[in-house]
Amino acid sequence: MNKLAQLDRQFVWHPFTQMRDWQRREPIVITGGNGAVLRDVCGKSYLDANSSIWTNLHGHRHPKINAAIHRQLKKIAHSSALGLANEPASRLAEKLVSVANSKLVGRASSRAGQSKSEGNGSSVASPHLSKVFFSDDGSTALEVALKLAYEFTRRTRGKTVKPRFLSLAGAYHGDTIGAVSLGHIDLFHKAYGGMLFPTDQVMSPYCYRCPFNRAKPERADARDYRRCRWECVGQVEKKFAAQKKKGNPYAAFVFEPRMQGAAGMIPQPDGWLRRVAEIARSHGALLIADEVMTGFGRTGVQSQASLFASHHEGVQPDFLCVAKGLTGGYLPMAATLTTQKVFDAFLGEYEEFKTFFHGHSFTGNQLGAAAALASLEILQSKKSVSQRSELEKSLREELPALWTLPVVGDIRQVGLVVGIELVKNWRTRESFALRERAGIRVCEALARRGVLTRPVGNVIVLMPPYCTTAKQLGKIVSSLRSAIGEVLPK
Ligand SMILES: *Cc1c(COP(=O)(O)O)cnc(C)c1O
Repeated sequence: MNKLAQLDRQFVWHPFTQMRDWQRREPIVITGGNGAVLRDVCGKSYLDANSSIWTNLHGHRHPKINAAIHRQLKKIAHSSALGLANEPASRLAEKLVSVANSKLVGRASSRAGQSKSEGNGSSVASPHLSKVFFSDDGSTALEVALKLAYEFTRRTRGKTVKPRFLSLAGAYHGDTIGAVSLGHIDLFHKAYGGMLFPTDQVMSPYCYRCPFNRAKPERADARDYRRCRWECVGQVEKKFAAQKKKGNPYAAFVFEPRMQGAAGMIPQPDGWLRRVAEIARSHGALLIADEVMTGFGRTGVQSQASLFASHHEGVQPDFLCVAKGLTGGYLPMAATLTTQKVFDAFLGEYEEFKTFFHGHSFTGNQLGAAAALASLEILQSKKSVSQRSELEKSLREELPALWTLPVVGDIRQVGLVVGIELVKNWRTRESFALRERAGIRVCEALARRGVLTRPVGNVIVLMPPYCTTAKQLGKIVSSLRSAIGEVLPK
């Protein structure tokens, strides 16, 4: 076994990994990468089909991001944001505010700080996001939003109020305790129940397995052939109404816009987010959008090119949480954007102690901010926009080939993100038991074919970097087809 692989097996504990399984095989040791390709210590190359767990945007070793990091490195790598400002973080905050308030699809104007809907269905309030709180990763971006929403609610509704949060069934918002409290994946979260604060969950639209969907399975994305009456929206309405009756309306509604990632790449039908956002607003709840996965163009290029999934549904949240792709996937950095109104609730004389007492050692890190600025510049270039729409189109063309496999139950694509749900029997939607490791085994067979991704349970995730060519994508999909055929023959 390779020396580095040996060291890994001896000393490293991997995330979300059964280490007993890990120790049974020789790990792939990555030593380099270029564009959509990763290389291992044996010289074998792989296509990075999940963008290194949903982080990488433009490919590895992008010359512009590399150069930006080099330039910054010649000045300084890091100084503290506690008591000091710095150049790239200041510039990045300005840039983030600018892209976070870009045109919403189907929205005329944005009104600062407004938080109540007019209730006629056409006027989700559009707060202006004007302040940026930096942190390190998706989990911390959510923690910041949670704590700010919690304290903002107490300061506006009264300190005796116990602010309560609503999130979606299957939600995943990170692995720190606040983020886990918002999460509703038993496999990950149940064991830690004793450490968590209580939150509520509401049905999320999972058309393929929706109890209200009366359509028989077809060889198509379940959103397109579903037969229902938007009962999922009705459930959200009920939940908000019931909580209001208890005399403590929800302080905030937390969601992943357009597609829930770790829940199993579960897409929302068009119009769902717009509707539930209106309901939440009409009940006075703050909106916390977790765009850790969906942000920075991942959900596709739309006519009024916003980089955020919420905007594609005409929704502007009060808190916009970004991480993974913020630096193009080069360095760990996150940001929580919010409104002047929330910011103002923390202003006061020092001795009033209204300060937001929260921060991390690497908040506002210069190298990360420099990478993020370069990444945003690339995102806004014509070349990147056309690259993304080409890739989206290629996905739409390549994926239908997978329908010939009887173990493919649902193929769901939102922009540049794809979930392929494997089932025992597509006519009945019967699932593989988790212990059969269907997704894991398919991804192992895929790795042998030179394509790397990780499943979420029985769902295979494809989320290639934006630079992936049509030819590379063709290889990803044909390899997946053959890997599924090998592991789950019918
Ligand atoms: C990955 C992810 C997180 C957590 O981010 P980390 O950087 O792993 O802490 C939170 N929310 C969503 C939607 C994610 O995909």
